[in-house]
Amino acid sequence: MTAQILDGRAVAAKLLDAVRAEVAGLGRKPVLATILVGDDPASHTYVRMKANRCAKVGMESRRIELGADTTTGELVARIRDLSEDPDVDGILLQHPVPGQIDERAAFEAIDPAKDVDGVTRTSFAKMAFEEGGFASATPGGIMALLDAYEIPLSGKHAVVVGRSPILGKPAGMLLLARNATVTYCHSRTTNLAAMVSEADVLVAAVGRPGLVRGDWIKPGAVVVDAGYADNKGDVEYEAAADRASYITPVPGGVGPMTIAVLLAQTVRAARENRP
Ligand code: NAP
Repeated sequence: MTAQILDGRAVAAKLLDAVRAEVAGLGRKPVLATILVGDDPASHTYVRMKANRCAKVGMESRRIELGADTTTGELVARIRDLSEDPDVDGILLQHPVPGQIDERAAFEAIDPAKDVDGVTRTSFAKMAFEEGGFASATPGGIMALLDAYEIPLSGKHAVVVGRSPILGKPAGMLLLARNATVTYCHSRTTNLAAMVSEADVLVAAVGRPGLVRGDWIKPGAVVVDAGYADNKGDVEYEAAADRASYITPVPGGVGPMTIAVLLAQTVRAARENRP
């Protein structure tokens, strides 16, 4: 079997067309504030990509760049200012942040009404209770991609490798909400190969290139690779694509969907907060 590509670029482009139309109807430019701490080149690239996409859909981005030695207190104060600024619709703190910063404290300084990246406890709880808060952008993007290809989830066995609060954990909860039977795997999982080989739907969210071997994939499985390190995904792509029914490329799968969901949630925040 050669898998069909889950084309995140194409699906994200359609989603962004809808966002652009919604922005045009709003009569003003929604404003996304992005905060970058330190000089990690990959984070710089991600923030630049997000700002470019904002411009393409008619949104404004306000870029805040802080030094690598910023303290938690300084960062929290900047984020609180943005939370209180009536001209700002959405706030994105690019992560990971430098090690001296308490990332959770920084996330929690984001007003949940502006938490368009879905990182606060409030957003997490709303997601868990299926109360329609802002989805964590990457898991939200994964679900939107699966839905675009009408992948059945109810009753399927979904295996999520990774359990971070912004990716693996919420991805599993969103799959659960769609009636998948969910197994989480993580660094202490003893037999990852056996777990993965039982997945009808696999979500890999680790950040270790090639961790998931192609010959572990159950024939016909749907493979979503959210991992990204050294320009590679977590899954051995070629060998996995020989067995899977659908697979995301890296890049061009989950990444573009994450940005599209971020912007869709920013226009939604603009509509809800400043009608
Ligand atoms: P993270 O916080 O470092 O979490 C990594 C997870 O992988 C942890 O739960 C960890 O388990 C698990 N893990 C580590 N080694 C493992 C192993 N050998 N076997 C099984 N599980 C293992 O990372 P993250 O923020 O969730 O990001 C994960 C990946 O997704 C990264 O490559 C990141 O670049 C990528 N990402 C992509 C996007 C996108 O838009 N495409 C967005 C965000 C992140 P423990 O919990 O036990 O430590």
